[in-house]
Amino acid sequence: MNKGRVYLVGAGPGDPKLISVRGLEAIQKADVIVYDRLANPRLLKHRRPDAELIFVGKLPDKHILKQEEINHLLVDLALQGKVVTRLKGGDPSVFGRVGEEAELLAEHDVTFDIIPGITSSIAVPAYAGIPVTHRNFTSSFAIITGHEYPNKTYSGLDWENLAKAIGTMVFLMGVANIEQISRELIRCGKPPETPVALVRWGTWADQATITGTLSDITEKVREAEFKSPAVIIVGEVVKLREKLAWVEKKPLFGRRILVTRARSQASELVDLIDDFGGEAVEFPVIRLQPPSQPEAQQALDEALDKLPTYDWILLTSVNGVEFFFNRLRQRGIDVRSMGNARIAAVGPKTAEALAERGIIADVLPSKYQGEGMLEAIQGDLRAGQKVLLPTADLARDYLPAKLRELGLQVTEVDVYENVLTTDDGDEVIHLLQNQSIHIITFTSSSTVTNLIEALKQLGIEEPLSLLQGVEIACIGPKTAETVRQYGLPITYMAEEATVRSLVQSMIQPK
Ligand code: SAH
Repeated sequence: MNKGRVYLVGAGPGDPKLISVRGLEAIQKADVIVYDRLANPRLLKHRRPDAELIFVGKLPDKHILKQEEINHLLVDLALQGKVVTRLKGGDPSVFGRVGEEAELLAEHDVTFDIIPGITSSIAVPAYAGIPVTHRNFTSSFAIITGHEYPNKTYSGLDWENLAKAIGTMVFLMGVANIEQISRELIRCGKPPETPVALVRWGTWADQATITGTLSDITEKVREAEFKSPAVIIVGEVVKLREKLAWVEKKPLFGRRILVTRARSQASELVDLIDDFGGEAVEFPVIRLQPPSQPEAQQALDEALDKLPTYDWILLTSVNGVEFFFNRLRQRGIDVRSMGNARIAAVGPKTAEALAERGIIADVLPSKYQGEGMLEAIQGDLRAGQKVLLPTADLARDYLPAKLRELGLQVTEVDVYENVLTTDDGDEVIHLLQNQSIHIITFTSSSTVTNLIEALKQLGIEEPLSLLQGVEIACIGPKTAETVRQYGLPITYMAEEATVRSLVQSMIQPK
């Protein structure tokens, strides 16, 4: 029988880019992904569409599945012939119980790989500006469980020797025991003024840090109601944070930002948010596809067959260019058949999309809206000329109406259409309900209407009240108008209708 296999993968501390290439590949090829709370669910977007997901999330006091059950689950799935990826927070070997999972797999002769991850014990301090070693302060560090109560009869920890021998101490799972930990370290000879930091949800948008000393940290933790998951760092290196804190300096630090545009178009926005220190959550409420109506498809094909007869071809979006050229290629039509026409692109991105296909736009307006396009070409328009306008099913009608007024013959054809999708919606609803989304970005009117509709389809009766209190960023006036029609306030408005300008607007002080 074809035996499956198991990848035991370290997902890293949270930031979804802190996973190894091997780890990512294991997600991409899995039949089943078994994951828990500290592995960022955003990593799951790399899965195959048909991959099964099993959450075995461990909450601090509530194990959804007991460890033995998880061990057996992995064996069972593998014996069914499945490729199983077990995603664990941080590194699987660091208090991750990978040993127990691997042992049972080995006993059942199941092939497994252990794919290391970036452990929170090093990465989380680093994201708080605390390197675990530094030549001037310490040449050793230890990763210690904070889960064994020092005041219990049994404690596996040799506190006296730890306090003496180790430079930097990093405690995991220790927030609830901070009092015992600091008391024990002082008792064993650590100076009470030894610096301590706690970093919660390090590398996530919720990253928060408090610092103090062994003598006052318990009080500070209590006052701040600081909860797990957090890493505790004890040692002189903590002082470096004053100089080295870097994550907090990024202009979008702490901001979790919803990206609603189609997955195929989202990468620029996601990357920019990431560059500026925000956390982008993708919820593509739109998918682009070729026209589904046979009449629309036929109209497009007829226009393509007559390409040499047009005087103008006006391209109003990157998507328009992409779907237009895809169809040309599918039909075996040479781009040279566009050679008679003057070609205008609505903005620099559209022009770039054309340039990638070897066409340098004749006209590039300085304003990126239909109005700008008209202004730019108006001087060269002559009554009777033929214009092809390959657009989307939801395109604005300003431009064609004006062109017709000027006596031109306009052919509008749909090159693609927008359809509503709700993929990954449950996680987004969860985040919205917890007020964990700070900004929603809208990059077209249809992202607005589709978001509301998607939430409805996912069972939210009053989507607008779910969005109360969330800031809204709009790419342009049309989009903003749609937002206002729903009675929602707009916090950020892009100066130009570009993704970069949209991100700029969120950074500038309001
Ligand atoms: N294998 C994991 C650790 C699992 S133990 C690793 O290598 O990181 C779980 C503990 O890890 C939590 O209680 C907390 O102390 C720490 N932890 C994991 N991710 C964290 C994060 N993003 N921020 C702060 N602490 C984290």
